[in-house]
Amino acid sequence: MLALDAAARAQQMPAGALYVVATPIGNVADSSLRALHILDIADAVAAEDTRNSQQLLARLGLDRRRDWIACHQHNEREAAARVIERLAAGARVAYVSDAGTPGISDPGARLVAAVRAAGHRVIPMPGPSAVATALSAAGFDGTAFHFAGFLPTSREARLKAIRTLAPLDASLVFYEAPHRIADSLAALEEALGATRRIVIARELTKLHEQIFAGTLAEARDWLGADANHARGEFVLVIEAAPPGATDDADLDRLLKPLLAALPLSRATKVACEISGLHRKAVYARALALRGTADDDQADAADGD
Ligand code: SAM
Repeated sequence: MLALDAAARAQQMPAGALYVVATPIGNVADSSLRALHILDIADAVAAEDTRNSQQLLARLGLDRRRDWIACHQHNEREAAARVIERLAAGARVAYVSDAGTPGISDPGARLVAAVRAAGHRVIPMPGPSAVATALSAAGFDGTAFHFAGFLPTSREARLKAIRTLAPLDASLVFYEAPHRIADSLAALEEALGATRRIVIARELTKLHEQIFAGTLAEARDWLGADANHARGEFVLVIEAAPPGATDDADLDRLLKPLLAALPLSRATKVACEISGLHRKAVYARALALRGTADDDQADAADGD
């Protein structure tokens, strides 16, 4: 450990630079040696929430007196001016968000851009991020992934966002909060089909860390099986669309007239032959469409 500490202290930490420092996403032991070192020697720490970061530094044994600059979503521009003033005077300034890597679904981008535009160096200090941590444990093939952050809050906008991403030849990664996890999983199942595979990474690096892997239909059952499954912080990783997959709109155009003329299993069979899609996915969509059609008929009957 002493050798590692010495190695961290031997690093170049130029003055007059902004250090963008990743902090733990739940497990304080995930702080890097470089992060600890710069947080120890920084002349000022700019933070998304100064109280939260003061607590973190206290846990890390770095709670000496220092200058703090609040720099959050609503004041990033003004805070950047204060940071630049300090950098111009030769200070080392560290920036930390509430957890993980700044600039990833967190403030930091405007600060970085302003500091660079003012001619000062920006030095990233890599470390935890929930998106990379979840992907490392997802186990899906392929190098491409699309990180979409949080889904929109309204039902229509959420479905539209998912449908836009559906055809991408890349794993899809979303962040989600406990009060919206059920709605988001339902929207993913509605837009992508019950058989698309998902990994739900819950409470990563924390005591109750849990990683669920299965289809979207199985994820629905998993969520309902235990109230604790809906608690905490989530990353959702969806496997890339299988080759040759169409989106639901294409499939619907094919299935609707078939379902109007044929029994469900026959309509599924014909749709599979025409589209080349897997039977499971087509059957699930046919079932969903038949449900909608039944609802429509019931609505029509109610209106009579
Ligand atoms: N900057 C952070 C990063 O690098 O991951 C993300 C900040 S964003 C405001 C917070 C969201 O990240 C949470 O709502 C959750 O979706 C995800 N997240 C953060 N920590 C997590 C954890 N320990 N386990 C699962 N998801 C986490």
